[in-house]
This record gives sequence, C-alpha cells and structure tokens, in this order.
Amino acid sequence: MPPIPVNPDRLLAELDHLRTIGAVGTGVARIAFSAEDITARRWLAERMAAAGLEVTVDACGNLFGLPPGDAPCLLVGSHSDTQPLGGWLDGIYGVVCGLELARAALETGGSRIAVVSFQDEEGRFGGLGGSAVWAGRMTLAEADETVDAEGVRFGDARQAAAQIGPMGDMPPARFSAYVEPHIEQGPGLEAAGLALGVVEAIVGVRRWSFTFTGQANHAGTTPMALRRDAVQALGQYIHELNGVFAPLVTERTVWTLGRITVDPNAPSIVPGAATVSVQMRDAEAARLDAMRDAALELAQRVAAQRGLQLATEEGLKLDPVRMDEALVDRLAAGAEAVAPGRWQRLPSGALHDACNVSAVVPSAMLFVPSIGGISHNPAEDTARADLRTGLLALASALG
Ligand SMILES: [Zn+2]
Repeated sequence: MPPIPVNPDRLLAELDHLRTIGAVGTGVARIAFSAEDITARRWLAERMAAAGLEVTVDACGNLFGLPPGDAPCLLVGSHSDTQPLGGWLDGIYGVVCGLELARAALETGGSRIAVVSFQDEEGRFGGLGGSAVWAGRMTLAEADETVDAEGVRFGDARQAAAQIGPMGDMPPARFSAYVEPHIEQGPGLEAAGLALGVVEAIVGVRRWSFTFTGQANHAGTTPMALRRDAVQALGQYIHELNGVFAPLVTERTVWTLGRITVDPNAPSIVPGAATVSVQMRDAEAARLDAMRDAALELAQRVAAQRGLQLATEEGLKLDPVRMDEALVDRLAAGAEAVAPGRWQRLPSGALHDACNVSAVVPSAMLFVPSIGGISHNPAEDTARADLRTGLLALASALG
C-alpha cells in the first residue's frame, strides 16, 4: 500500500494553535474537564467534522472522529488533557497525528482511520480514567465516585462532556487496531541520535514498603552496642540494595526509593522505626518478581543481623503490557521506510492509554524524541523535523 498522503505542515499548524489553548508561558494547562480542556476538545471536534469525520463524545468525555460507514477502523490518538502545568506535546501530538491521518485517508479514499482523544489520561481523577472505562477495566459507576484533589466527583465533572459535541456510545468493536503516537518523555532516543522509537511493551510496576522496627531510646545515654536503631538498618539496606539488584537488572530497569519515613523523627531520639518504599519498573514481569524477592530477602537479612522487626506491605502492582506483535512490525516497517537506521524498538517507561486499550483492541505505540528527555514541564519540546518524521512513519505504516 502507498503511504497515506499526509500534510506535516497542517499537523504543525494545528499543534501550534492548540498550544495557545490553556497556554502558560511555553507550557499548557488543560487539566481534564477544565474550561481550557473543553475548549480544546470542541476545537478538535470542529476540525474532525470539517474533515468529514463523524464526531461522537462518550459519557466520559472521550472524543472520537470516525469516517462514514460501519466497517471497522484503525484508531489513532492519545489524550488532549494535560498535567496541571504540562508541556505542549504530551498526548496532543498523538491526537493531531490521528486527525491528520484520518483526514488525509478520507480525502484520498484510502484506509479507514479514526481519531480519538481519551479523557483524563493525566489523572485529575486517578489516571487513564477515560480509556479505563472505555476498555471496560473500570465501570462508569466506579469512575463516577473518584474525586479530584478538591473533592469534585468525576460523575459531576463529566457532565461537561455534552459541551464538546454529539454524545453517543462508541464500542471498541468498531476498531480493528489502536496506534498511539506519543513523545518519548525520556532521554533515550535523543541520546542515541535516533528519530523514532517503536514501543514493544509498556513497563510494569511493583511497589513495596519495608518497615524496620527497633527501639526508640535516649540519644545521649544509650550505648551504640546496645541500640536497636532503625535508621542504621535502613542505611545498610539502601547501601546494599543496588548490589543485590545488579545481577538481575538490565540497563533499562529502574528502581526508586522515593519515600522514607522515620519515627519519631527527632534529633535526640534513637530512631525506633524507619520505612522505605521500593518501586521497581521493567518490561518483564519475571524480572520484577525476582527483584521483589531480592529486595525482600535483603530486608529480612538486615533486620535479622540487627535484631529488628521487619514489616512488609505490597503497594501498586501493574504487570507489563506487551504491544501487538503484528502492529509493532508494521510500525517498524514504517519507521525504517522514512528514517532508515535511525529508529529502535524500546519499552515505554511511562503509562499510556494504550495500556488500557490493549485489553480490547490490538495496540502499539510510536515515540518521537523528547529534547533533553524533559516532559510534564513547560520546557517539554521535540524538534519539528522529528514531529514530521513521526507522522510520515505512521502514514507509511498505516497506508
Ligand atoms: Zn501522555
């Protein structure tokens, strides 16, 4: 099939316009269901309609534009809501790529391509909410009871969806596949001098917390040899953890000891308890399980050596999500066609709507580089040449 005859200038002009909706300096503030978010979705709905696409807004505020007819479509998109103060490309790049591909395909009578902007990917009400309900991973009734930081219910906020466009149901069965173009939001592609990344998997997450409990006591009168100091144990644990993980991990595996609490957290008291969170991310579930086992064994050993109690608690547990192999191969062929030798296969370290959508429709993602690896920040940016290359690779892959 020949490439879809897309117009990269039109893509860039629309991205430039959309960054003015909710602009704050070089950044954008379009939190889900804010006035700015609704304005941007209305503008997208108008562009879809002007292109001849049929616009449907579902009960969550997910916005769809489909070519006329009932045959299954290939769905392309992402999200147009942002972090409270985000960058100009996170999410919206994928939506506008979808719009341009759907429009160009309709103009030339080629592939049946539809576009989507999922709602509340960025988590005003918890994260990936619009796609979670659409993919049946959460009921609308469950979503309705989630609340934002101000206590506003999703069920109340989503009433604004009616302002975006005509309301209706949009069952996943209408779509044969889902492709989510997105900025990388990390430094990998830029550092490697590459133009594109074809996502093979979205990493999973394991989070545990370990609490060492000893004996709080007087910091002046308790001899070192008699102390059961929880922070001394915590220090040993942190010091040894990287060495314990070393034989298990790859260069892409990441782990974060992001929260430490000490009780009673006072300068003149030998610490009685210390808790550390250990969050691990990788594209292989077996590796995550091995890391969890190693982290737990180390905590048990340190506690035993120092005569402390150990309490463990499992937190967030998300398994890695494999992208659809045939779709990944199609995107790889598109990348090679427009950027020969300047692309790679990689895992996504961030969560995306594709995590949810892949439960009901074969899914894959294409990344363009993030300058300096910066995202969720007004400084977020991608070279305009790379934004074009991403669209052209999709046009080649999906034609
Ligand atoms: Zn995003």
